Amino acid sequence: MTQQRTVAVLGATGTVGQRFISLLADHPWFKLTALTTSDRSAGRRYADAVHWHLPEPMPASVADMKLEPTRPDIGADLCFSALPTDAAEQHEAALAKAGHHVFSNASTHRMDADVPNLLAEVNFDHVKALAKQREGRGWSGSIVTNGNCTAIHLTLAIAPLHRDFGIEQLLVTTMQSISGAGYPGVPSLDVLDNVVPFIGGEEEKVVEETQKFLGTWDAKGFAPARFPMSVHCNRVLVRDGHTETVSVRLKDAPKLDAVRASFERFRGRPQELGLPSAPKRPIVVRDEPDRPQPLLDRDTERGMASTVGRLREDPVLGLKFVLVGHNTIRGAAGASVLNAELLVAERCV
Ligand code: NAP
Repeated sequence: MTQQRTVAVLGATGTVGQRFISLLADHPWFKLTALTTSDRSAGRRYADAVHWHLPEPMPASVADMKLEPTRPDIGADLCFSALPTDAAEQHEAALAKAGHHVFSNASTHRMDADVPNLLAEVNFDHVKALAKQREGRGWSGSIVTNGNCTAIHLTLAIAPLHRDFGIEQLLVTTMQSISGAGYPGVPSLDVLDNVVPFIGGEEEKVVEETQKFLGTWDAKGFAPARFPMSVHCNRVLVRDGHTETVSVRLKDAPKLDAVRASFERFRGRPQELGLPSAPKRPIVVRDEPDRPQPLLDRDTERGMASTVGRLREDPVLGLKFVLVGHNTIRGAAGASVLNAELLVAERCV
């Protein structure tokens, strides 16, 4: 890249917003020029308004930046959105109309018929929908979403299996961390000493987004992958990192060695291009009988990989395994930054 692109973080004080700031502070291609917040904190110095809760220190370069309200005339070319859904509804289309390229974590536009829900290694061809989006909506900018954190890690792990063998049926049970609910998130009295077997709207999102990720795009639109999925989502007392146990029926019931090889050779466009945020291995396979675990494996490949393990035969569906992935890095801000790098490198934005 010869010239840095200017970028904004929308919703910069929240859980995903802080991740964006941490990932973008020293980014080789992107220069942070604007941070937005709700009207409540607009005008304040970032360090005074934010309750910083990442383990790494707040980057010194952002501490003195002034928080702005979210407006279409924001001074940045690319906008990384960590807005709640209602604020995303209010602002993202207006920003795209004004010529900004929005990379969003909100669910608001993920299932729109002309919006790529992009998982960089899996469905780069869905970016072709941007031509229809810009023409149909009269925008010079664009909206590209990344998926729900649970759907991202599930899809990253099963994409090579679907590509190499074909998925016929899938059952997944999740144990999702509390940072997935933002800050302050789940009340401590609900989650301490407990497992909460319900996350509103999550199971539906995991099904529809996974099928959109693994589906196709052509001139008529998106056609989702069509295999039956059963999803159970649970909130557990883990700070960061979602765990998912997966049982899957694959066509022709491949041997475990072939499944393992499929995980290990999986690579995508980000790895071919050597993008700054691309994990060298998008899927990491562990052989220990008690891995992966969120505490030990969520930061693999700087939080950008899904780690799979406990690969074994399943008497009901044929194959089962466990996966762990970082929900606010590859499951949110890191996925957006990688999507933006890919679209910049491919000259789509
Ligand atoms: P969060 O911790 O509750 O943060 C939301 C932030 O948005 C707050 O800092 C708030 O700022 C700000 N905000 C509210 N209205 C705004 C407006 N009009 N303009 C600018 N900023 C505004 O939530 P989060 O977990 O970061 O989630 C952000 C988005 O990412 C949500 O759509 C969520 O569904 C999605 N997501 C989250 C995760 C995750 O693991 N947490 C994963 C994937 C996707 P104030 O403090 O100033 O009100």
